[in-house]
Formats: sequence, C-alpha cells, structure tokens
Amino acid sequence: MTVVLTACAFNAKKSNKPIGKSVAILLSAITPPIIGNMLIIASGYEVLSTVGCYFYFLGMDLSMFSLLVFTFDYCMIKWSNLALKRIIYSLLIIDAIQIVLNPITGHAFDTEMIEFGGYPYYRIIPFGGLTFHRILDYGIFLAAFIIFINKARKSPKYYKERYTVIIVSLSITCLTLTYFIFSRTPIDRSMICLGIFGLLVYYFSIHYRPLRLLDRMLADLASDIPDALFLFDAYNNCIWANTAGCQLVNIENDQFDKAFDALVNLFGPPNDDREAWMTRRIVGQGDTARYFTLEWHTLKDDADRSAGVYMSVRDNTAEQQTYKQEFYNATHDTLTGIYTKEYLYEIIHKTILENQNEDYIVVFVDVKNFKIVNDIFGTDFGDYAIKCIAAWISTDVSDNCVYGRLAGDTFGICLPKKDFDEQRLNMQLQDFIVVNENLEHHILIHLGVYEVIDRNTEVSVMFDRAHLALSHIKDDYQKHIAYYDDEMRKKVLWDQNISAQLHEAITLRQLCPYLQPIADSSGKVVGCEALVRWIHPENGFMPPGKFIPVFEKNGMIVEVDKYMWRCACEILSSWKEKGIDLFVSVNISPKDFYFMDVNAEIRRLVKKYEVDPAKLRIEITESVMMDDVDNRMDILKQFREEGFIVEMDDFGSGFSSLNMLKDMPVDVLKIDMNFLGKTTDDERSNTIVQNIINLTHDLKIESLTEGVETENQYKALAQMGCRLFQGYYFAKPMPIEEFMSFYSAN
Ligand code: C2E
Ligand code: CA
Ligand code: CA
Repeated sequence: MTVVLTACAFNAKKSNKPIGKSVAILLSAITPPIIGNMLIIASGYEVLSTVGCYFYFLGMDLSMFSLLVFTFDYCMIKWSNLALKRIIYSLLIIDAIQIVLNPITGHAFDTEMIEFGGYPYYRIIPFGGLTFHRILDYGIFLAAFIIFINKARKSPKYYKERYTVIIVSLSITCLTLTYFIFSRTPIDRSMICLGIFGLLVYYFSIHYRPLRLLDRMLADLASDIPDALFLFDAYNNCIWANTAGCQLVNIENDQFDKAFDALVNLFGPPNDDREAWMTRRIVGQGDTARYFTLEWHTLKDDADRSAGVYMSVRDNTAEQQTYKQEFYNATHDTLTGIYTKEYLYEIIHKTILENQNEDYIVVFVDVKNFKIVNDIFGTDFGDYAIKCIAAWISTDVSDNCVYGRLAGDTFGICLPKKDFDEQRLNMQLQDFIVVNENLEHHILIHLGVYEVIDRNTEVSVMFDRAHLALSHIKDDYQKHIAYYDDEMRKKVLWDQNISAQLHEAITLRQLCPYLQPIADSSGKVVGCEALVRWIHPENGFMPPGKFIPVFEKNGMIVEVDKYMWRCACEILSSWKEKGIDLFVSVNISPKDFYFMDVNAEIRRLVKKYEVDPAKLRIEITESVMMDDVDNRMDILKQFREEGFIVEMDDFGSGFSSLNMLKDMPVDVLKIDMNFLGKTTDDERSNTIVQNIINLTHDLKIESLTEGVETENQYKALAQMGCRLFQGYYFAKPMPIEEFMSFYSAN
C-alpha cells in the first residue's frame, strides 16, 4: 500500500493538474501513519512499537493538515477565513508538540504488552494528551466530511459521484477508526481504509473523467440536431436514437429495439457492406413524396472487427420542394405555365438528338398586331388571349409536340414532321376567336415552319429560320402558314455575306456616291442628291436596293450613312475650292437616330471639311417621326438653327399625315411621283399633287418633285408651281466625274 501510495503521489505531482500538488501531499502524508501502524503491529519490540506510535500520531496530524488542504482544493473552495485557518494549524502544531513531549511528560499515552494470537503486542494506553489528539483529528475529519457533503448536495447530478465516493470512503475510514479506539482491539484496520481512501482520492482527482456527464452532453447535443441519428451495436440492435430518429420511425424513447425493423420497413434493408456509405431514398409518391439522405458509418475496433454502426437520416423534402419550385419557376412561363424559351430550346435539342429516326419541324407562332389587341382591349384581355393561344397549342397542335413561349406574343413548337397537319391547322386559324366576358376578337395567327435538316443546328437558329418564313405571308388574311425554303436561306446567306464585307468595302471605297442632278424650273442644275452604289469586286455594280434594306435591318446602315455624309462633305469641299455653287442632299435613315447622335456627327463633318451647312441638305423620311416625336423634332429644329436645309423625303409614300406637316420643322417637301403620279387616273393624281404644292406655298416651304421622267410631267409640275425637280428626265444618278461633265454642259 505504501509503495503504491508513493507511486501515486509521484504521478499526481507530475500530472500538471492544479490539484496534483495537494493530492501528492495528502498521499505522502498518509504513508507515515500506515508505516507507524505497521511497526506497532509487526515489530513485537517495545521500542519499535513506541517509535511506530509516534509515527502514527504525528503522521495523523500531518494527514489531517493535508486532508484539509486537499478538501478545499477538491471542492474548489477558497479558504479565506484566515483566523480559523490559523487556529486549526496552531492546534495541529500544539498537538504535534504535546505528542513529541510525551516521552518526558508521559501525559499522552503509554504502551503495555499483551499477547495476541501467540505473539507479543504493545497496545496503546491513552491518557489526556491522546484524547486531545483524537478529538482534534475527529474534528478535522468531521469538517472535511461536512464540506464534502455540502458540496455534493449543491452539485449537479453528474458531479455527485466524485464527491459521494470520497464521502463514503472517508466515512468508512472514520468508522473503522472509531471501532479500533473503542473496541480496544490491538490491530487498527482503519489504516487500510485510509490507504484506500488515498487511492480513491488519487483516481478521482487525477484520472477521473465524468463519463456520464460526457454521455449526457453528447446525447443532448445529438438529440437537438434535426437529422435523425441511430446507434447500433455490432448485432444491429439499436442502442440509442435521438428525438428526430424516434419521430422518423415513430417509436417511443424506450423502444430503441424496434428501430432497426422500422428503418428497414421505411427504406429497405441496408444493401451496401462498405464501412461508410451514403444513399438517397424517396419514400412515397407524387406530392406526398419525401426525400431522404442516408449515411452509414461502421465503427471498427483495433482488430478491424465491426463494433457498431451509427446512421444518420436527413430529411431533404423541404429542400427538394424548394428546388423543384425554383426549377419550375425558371423553366415555366409565369403567365401561361408553358416552357420558357431557354428551357424549350434545351428540350427540343435533346428530343431531336435522342430520336434520330424521326423527322422534325419547328414552328414559330406569331400573333399579328398583338400590340393593337393590347392597346384596344387592354392588357387583361391581351393576357387572356395569350393564355388562349398557349392552350390551343397544348391541346390542338399535336400530341407529340413540345412547345413554349418565346417572347411576348410569339411561341415555339417542335413536332414530328408526320404530325404536322397543315390543312387542319389552317382551318383552325381561319377563325381563331378569343372571347372574354363581353369582348370578342378575331386573332390573326401566323405559323412559320422550318424543317430540321441538320440536327446540330442551334435551336435558336432553327426558330430564326421559321420566323423568317413568316415574312412571306405579309398581309394575306387567308394564308396562315409559311415554310422556310432555300430562297430564304440564300437571302440569309447573302445578308450575312454583305454584312461581313461592309467594313472592308468602306475602307476600300467600294461604296461610291452617285449624284443625281436637281434642277430648278428653268432647267438649271442647282444641286444633287448623293445616292450610294456598291461597286463590288465579285457582284459588280450593286444598287442600294440590294443592300440598304439589309443594313437598315441590322443597324449597319449607320456605317453606310456616316460614310456617305463624309463623301458629300468631301465633294462640297472640293467644289468650294473650284467655286462651284451646288448643294448636295444626303439621306438619313430612321435607324441612324437609334444608334448615334446624328446632329453631332454631321456638325463634326461640316466643321472638319469647312463646308457651308446650307449646302448640305438633310433628307429625312416621315418614318423618322414614327416614335420619340418630340426628340426628333428637336433634332430637326437644331439642324435648321445651324443653317442646314431639312427635306422631307418620299412624301406621299408612307402614312403621310397632313396634320403633322404643319408642325414639321422642314424646309423642303420632296414629292415622289412614283407614289403619286402614276395612278391610272391622271386627273385625280394631278389634283392631289397640285394641292400638295399649294399646301407647301401656304406653309411657306419649298416643293421638290422627284421621279420626274417626262417633259410633260416636268412642264405640268412647273405649271403647278413646283420649284425643284429631280428625275430621269434630267439625268440618272451618276459618278462624280460624269456629273461634273453633265453640269458643265448644262
Ligand atoms: P430615295 O432617297 O427616294 O432616292 C431616290 C431614288 O429614286 C433613287 O433610287 C433614284 O435612283 C430613284 N430615281 C430618281 N429618279 C427617278 C425616276 O425618274 N424614276 C424612277 N423610277 N426612279 C428614280 P436609288 O438610288 O436606287 O435609291 C433607292 C433608295 O435607297 C433611296 O430612295 C434611299 O431611300 C436609299 N438610299 C440610297 N442611298 C442611300 C444612302 O446613302 N443612305 C440611305 N440611308 N439610303 C440610301
Ligand atoms: Ca432621298
Ligand atoms: Ca425619295
């Protein structure tokens, strides 16, 4: 026991724990009384027994002192009452002194020899001094006892055991001591208990971990997490499940043994014998389906044998539902509930590639003048109409089609070629009437059809082609379906080609301004209109009709016009040097206003080439005024304020509004004879032209007739009061040099 205690004391000292020191002191202090007791029992000699007694009593004083120190440390109590501390320490010192004085005074104890079990044995005869010693020891025992009891009472359940064990061993030590004292038995067995007490102190102070506490804490932690957790032993018996786990398999907290079967019932048997695995399971179907992620970990012992399994089950249903909802929102149109453009493209691409033996067509569905429907009947009716069209597509086109909404009033369909019933669809579209409450409207729907030839063509391109087919329908109210054909394809290729070549054509000056003379009523040339021509290296001479519409559509007209304005300025600049007093009219496309600051660009050119703004005439058409009227008016006003002459081109060709004319900031009205003068009824057209010319007089603007082809026309127009003339009667548009000769001859 003493050896063990000494080793423990040594360990406690080395343990680095704050309590280690007081444990080491206590263990060291209880060895002398044990040794002393051993001498008393085993020596058989009076001197040795007496020495043992001194070891015993003095050692007990030391033990009581260290017991107090340890008790305070162990119970984490700060012993701040200095007076009490001093009194107790003093009493212990006094006691030690009176014991040491005993050989001289003989007041504490004496020994007497008795025979016990056939051996000589020196028993202690107590006197007053020893009684004092014993009362003091009991007092300190009692104090430690009370402190431990108090601490144990106040501590949480999980800490009680570390106090209870010490209290119990302390009590047993105390009881055996009392028994020894009062029974006068020669052998003091309490020393064994004291030794055991020392060992327990060592264990609980240095090595003990509150496992139950740890257990409880881990269980609490695991109970609170939302995942269901199950712990199994090596034989698949569930030994624990958290709250979520019990709820998942619908068992009570004490029915863990039912968990395994319940899990197998729910998810099927575990079919994976790897140490750790994860799998997803769906329980139930349709809207009530629940989604789970199962994880399984096997715990192995050192010999690689399975010691148990822990399993977690996560319920992903909510996540799945959110994901599904988000996916639905992202792939379905909010108004009609059919696919969005992007998702439709994806589906079509997949369908076409997956069914190589089927021939497909894509159909571009367009509602004609849908803006007007919205405008007249309101957006609610418009929305309703869109829904009706979506419903028609989903029920009437084909059972095997995929479809979606491409944009506002356009839809896309892809279906097997054999399912496309042109006649039936044409009939249905003949009277497609939308009725909503009291409103009824005939909706004009056009279908552009493209047959898929190369399955790898981008779906967007397929729809572009189907869309392109629509341009063939124009305003034919009987025809609802048009097919994309090779002509269109060629046209597309042509458009792409010339667009790609434009930049170079400008740099290499393949684009040239042709000038068409403008004469006054006496036939004298006063100016010209610059009209673009493309002298193409392969295609030869190209009139503007071949490329201007293409560039007007794709916006590249801006490049052409900027170039033409520059050429006009160059011409004017050279004429200025030569003293030629002619004006040049340039064309401005409506698209120019979208893509650049027309005014700033022209002002910049005029400044750069130092030409008189009055010599550069600006030709705009009525369509420029189709939108953003106020802004366009301001631009024209600005031109005029800066000294440019603004001409209204092609008057009579478009939706000419006479009303608008009165507010238009223009200087010249160009009346196009091609639109007004060539009707069968010459009488009536003459009246119209006459009246327009009269109108220009009233509005104090100049009139210019273009498209003048004959002398008769010229004379008649001059008679009507027109001032300026342009047309084949004078000359066709021609290159600059030719124009110069023409001018000289004129
Ligand atoms: P526009 O501005 O109305 O030009 C007048 C067109 O009428 C020119 O056709 C001209 O050659 C033609 N023309 C002139 N006199 C007669 C005639 O007596 N009888 C007939 N039948 N036609 C006559 P062109 O040069 O083919 O130009 C066509 C259109 O292309 C122009 O119409 C204009 O809108 C556009 N354009 C031409 N050059 C440019 C340009 O540089 N920029 C822009 N934006 N458009 C241009
Ligand atoms: Ca023109
Ligand atoms: Ca014109």
